[in-house]
Amino acid sequence: MSQNGNGTKAPKKNGRKKRRYMTMNAYTNAMLQFDQAVGVLGLTSDQVAMIKDPRKIIQLSLPVRMDDSSIRIFHAYRVQHSVIRGPAKGGVRFHQDVSLDEVKALALWMTMKCSVVNIPFGGGKGGIVVDPRTLSLGELERLSRRYFAALAEDIGPDQDVPAPDVNTNPQVMAWFMDTYSMRYNEYTPAVVTGKPLELGGSKGRDIATAQGTCYCLDEAAKHLEMDLEGAKVAIQGFGNAGSNAADMLVKKGAKVVAISDITGAYYNEKGIDIKAAIAWKNQHKSILTDFEQAGKAEKMDDPMKLLELPVDILIPAALENQISDQNADRVQARIIAEAANGPVTHLADQILGKKGTFIIPDILCNAGGVTVSYFEWVQNRMGFYWPKSKVTEELRWFMRKGFKATLHESLKHNVSMRVAAFIVAIERLTKAAELRGLYA
Ligand code: GLU
Repeated sequence: MSQNGNGTKAPKKNGRKKRRYMTMNAYTNAMLQFDQAVGVLGLTSDQVAMIKDPRKIIQLSLPVRMDDSSIRIFHAYRVQHSVIRGPAKGGVRFHQDVSLDEVKALALWMTMKCSVVNIPFGGGKGGIVVDPRTLSLGELERLSRRYFAALAEDIGPDQDVPAPDVNTNPQVMAWFMDTYSMRYNEYTPAVVTGKPLELGGSKGRDIATAQGTCYCLDEAAKHLEMDLEGAKVAIQGFGNAGSNAADMLVKKGAKVVAISDITGAYYNEKGIDIKAAIAWKNQHKSILTDFEQAGKAEKMDDPMKLLELPVDILIPAALENQISDQNADRVQARIIAEAANGPVTHLADQILGKKGTFIIPDILCNAGGVTVSYFEWVQNRMGFYWPKSKVTEELRWFMRKGFKATLHESLKHNVSMRVAAFIVAIERLTKAAELRGLYA
């Protein structure tokens, strides 16, 4: 049966040439996704020119004094993809594989993400090429502060508002906020989100990405008439998004049969005791090292096989390009909920679309994090803080609206949820760009 990735049958298309992209970097992937939606919308080249390219790219070489008193240079980036709908917004990741193309892709996805859930931000992303596990706490602090100091002219509550991403956390955000506040001699919590509660963080920000993913799964299950209770789930990545999603889904009655992180993948057909896994991780420097020894799961020989397990729901919650044309045809899940950014390549999308897999795309599925970042920014600017119940209620509202708008476009144009989410985002951006016009 031919399907279109939105749960409905698609008409057969004949005679279309297949193009293969040998190198699939994240930015190429993002461009292909963008172009596909532009094709459906039939935008003019002027309209595309106004919204496609990043508006500013900052590349830095940061000297940092190491504990042994030597100086080491770290390469870092901040890309502001768009400030059309509001200040640039998006996280900063610390990872040894960070590259400019990756940050450019992630920045574009942030623009789309903020637009899909209709929060008043553009998009940006930052990254430092570093494996933070190799640094002492002091080195990590000096690197974080040097990065933010170097960006001081380009960031600000109305310019660009960073946040946590892979391997960064509330402590790093506290250092960022302090560096900026000291530099301008003004307490400025709204310059960064994802801060500790004691420094103007928002209640519920820590679990927001997972919470947003779960709201999307509720809506997807309704649309597909499936039950989350008893559903089998596999989760790749056990960081903030993955571990909280696992916890929430178990509370909804789902069975999480596999989890993984950099130490490997762990499987239990009867369902993994997620509370035990989280406790284990907390006792082992935030990783699942030797979790099989807890007697709660077996270690899988090949962690990538987690993606191919016979489950109802697959949640990639780690890094980009995990499901590609190399393994997409072996993915068995009915729903893929992209808690990570860019986990499915453009080619894999085509393969999964034909199979009828329902993909909740990253720019919708993991938008809960930035949505509560928006609430944090609002609270900082008002100097008035919300109870958790208000955060949860507002988040549910934004996520449902985003999901419904996306599903509507998906059914209207008979396209996948990913193309539909880009359509929602691009239409809003184009309208805003037209209304603003050109400055000079
Ligand atoms: N890093 C998260 C993301 O990719 C959150 C960004 C933010 O809160 O600004 O969506």
